[in-house]
Amino acid sequence: MLYQLAVNFCILFTFSIISYWPFQDRGRFRIPYPKLHPVLIGLTAGVTATFLLAASVRLEGGVFVDARISVIVISGIFGGPVAPVIAAAVVGLVRIGMSGFAGAGLVAGLNAVFIGIAASGFFAWKGSSFRTARLFFHFAVLETAVVLIFLLPKGAGVVMNTAMFIAYSYLSYFTVTVILRELNSHFKKLAGIEKLSKTDFLTGLNNSRSFGEIISSMLEDGTRPVSLVLFDIDRFKKVNDTYGHPVGDEVLTELAGRIRRCALPKGAVLSRNGGEEFSVLLPGIAEDQALSVAEKLRRAVAGNPFILDGGLSIPVTISLGVCSFPGQAEDTKQLYQRADEALYTAKQTGRNRVVAWTPRTESIAKT
Ligand code: GH3
Ligand code: MG
Ligand code: MG
Repeated sequence: MLYQLAVNFCILFTFSIISYWPFQDRGRFRIPYPKLHPVLIGLTAGVTATFLLAASVRLEGGVFVDARISVIVISGIFGGPVAPVIAAAVVGLVRIGMSGFAGAGLVAGLNAVFIGIAASGFFAWKGSSFRTARLFFHFAVLETAVVLIFLLPKGAGVVMNTAMFIAYSYLSYFTVTVILRELNSHFKKLAGIEKLSKTDFLTGLNNSRSFGEIISSMLEDGTRPVSLVLFDIDRFKKVNDTYGHPVGDEVLTELAGRIRRCALPKGAVLSRNGGEEFSVLLPGIAEDQALSVAEKLRRAVAGNPFILDGGLSIPVTISLGVCSFPGQAEDTKQLYQRADEALYTAKQTGRNRVVAWTPRTESIAKT
């Protein structure tokens, strides 16, 4: 009996990892059709429960003891209300199929379906989490214990066997969920750190590292145009000198907010490339349209002075350089370099303006 329980536990544990890892670690695994994930998790749980049934402890009166309840409940933590219903339907069918449409098999099969439907309702009502699953698990074990008492023939060690079922259910469920919780918290921390490493702490925009990765991936296929608008605050040093560094930081944050609120073409990527230099990457956008996007950004900044905390009003302008791939640049490096040359030209020719890269801007930048 102990051996079967151990086998049951191993199957339960394997299922939990298989149904958890690929669906939660989205950075590494990209399973298509996310909307179908609950169905997949439900089916995986159903198949697992079939193995559990095959390895169950067989008692008198055609009663099987295994971890199927745990599987149904755990499927709801990751698969929401849909998964337990699917898992329970598979379990119910298999259980009835094993013993025929009568007696203990029928009652146990229907009990699994009932647990699945009840779990689904509970998860829909309270949300899917380890906590709600734990609450529901108490109910599921208690309810199944009552069914077990009803099914076991008198004198078949009813008390002992029911106690064994309860103890095994709790031990296996809590061992597995403690490990899953640990994994979950590690994944969350990892995702947070990954996001931090790609985000500028002050403005929340992409940082220069992330910008570098994104621009390279945009130019990778080499067929669709990509435009880069690079811009820099005019006379920003004066803002810092006049009002202090913290006010300068506020200006940077407000600038990020303004460009975020601009209606930009689909797929536009905003970054703070460093200091008071920002960029907008425009995938699928050629030079003409990129120039009007840049002009829109310029107007969004220069149109109204920045009103900061405490009511301080500071007029801010930006200078912008625009370059497009493949028309004006051949690769990532050249795209950045030429947008920078155009930006430099905008600074040289009066600031608060948009300049597109041409061979002439290159010569201005080199003087
Ligand atoms: P220009 O119009 O030629 O761009 O003039 P500028 O004064 O803006 O140019 P410059 O590049 O000489 O000065 C940029 C200043 O930006 C210098 C630096 O102190 C300030 N700066 C860079 N990063 C930050 C930041 O995170 N916060 C604040 N407050 N200031 C920053
Ligand atoms: Mg500047
Ligand atoms: Mg600068």
